[in-house]
Amino acid sequence: MNQSLVYRDCPVCDGNVAEPYWQKGDLRIVRCGQCGMVYANPVSSEMATGEFYDASGKDYYLSPAKLESDYAGVRFERELLLFRKLCPRGAVLDVGCSSGAFLFQLRKRWPADYQILGTDVSGPPLDYAESRGVPVVRGDFLARELTIRAGAPASGPARPGEQYQHAGSETGAPYDAITFWAVIEHLAEPKRFLEKAHTLLKPGGLCFVLVPNLRSIAVRLLGAKYRYVYAQHLNYFSASTLGRFGERAGFEIVATRFTHFNPVVIWQDWRHGGREVSNAERGELLKQTTALKQKPWVKPAKWFYGLTEKALGCLGLADNVVVTLRKPAEVAGS
Ligand SMILES: [Zn+2]
Repeated sequence: MNQSLVYRDCPVCDGNVAEPYWQKGDLRIVRCGQCGMVYANPVSSEMATGEFYDASGKDYYLSPAKLESDYAGVRFERELLLFRKLCPRGAVLDVGCSSGAFLFQLRKRWPADYQILGTDVSGPPLDYAESRGVPVVRGDFLARELTIRAGAPASGPARPGEQYQHAGSETGAPYDAITFWAVIEHLAEPKRFLEKAHTLLKPGGLCFVLVPNLRSIAVRLLGAKYRYVYAQHLNYFSASTLGRFGERAGFEIVATRFTHFNPVVIWQDWRHGGREVSNAERGELLKQTTALKQKPWVKPAKWFYGLTEKALGCLGLADNVVVTLRKPAEVAGS
């Protein structure tokens, strides 16, 4: 483990007055005295730079269990439905795309409607994404030009360079939508990412941000014992801090939703009292959950489960919160 530590200001309001919130092993989580945002401070430099994800993270991201469940049709079901409803066509950039499963599904379901591009810091999952025909750009989102070529076909051959070009070959803000599915919570400087997304969107373009919900039933029951309170998560948003975060980057809030509910995780973490859960174990659970969702005999259970998820969603208690943000259409010169 890299020993050097990075100290952070509040990722939402830049304040530097915070009180202790949780302590879990070496992990120190604080709450901003100004805006109430909960975040890790300090954090290890390998988490702050994203170096972790290109090194130790790859075993998890490329484990057969994780790949299989990522590419299962049900994995991004909720994200796809929400996305489709609000963005029926256009150029889409998925930031932190990992193995490319969201974009793969998007194009598989509606091949004529979207131009797609994924980006990530982690190399090995991107190799996999490309092997499945998802075009990607490698490296630091903040440092890259990410432009889909004007007039590029919405579908068709997905060879790198065919559907997109980058490195300053085109100016302007070309995207209709940019997605961050479970990404922002991993970033030491999330605001810079959202601001960059803002510059890359067309006026009126949408930004989808999904993060774990600090006010979920799981967090309320388990507190810091919850497995997702861990070193990889640097930011712990509620719907209100996430909304404020979006507004400070220049967006309007279009919609706020609460999705996903995993009672197995709550049960396991409750029983095991917050022990470290290995990446292999996470991958295996994801695989089991995904496989279970596809079994026909779980239909009545699924119906009940769906109802529970919906109820928790309405109450703002589901596992994740998603905000859809819009770049104001009338902003001149951007
Ligand atoms: Zn703050």
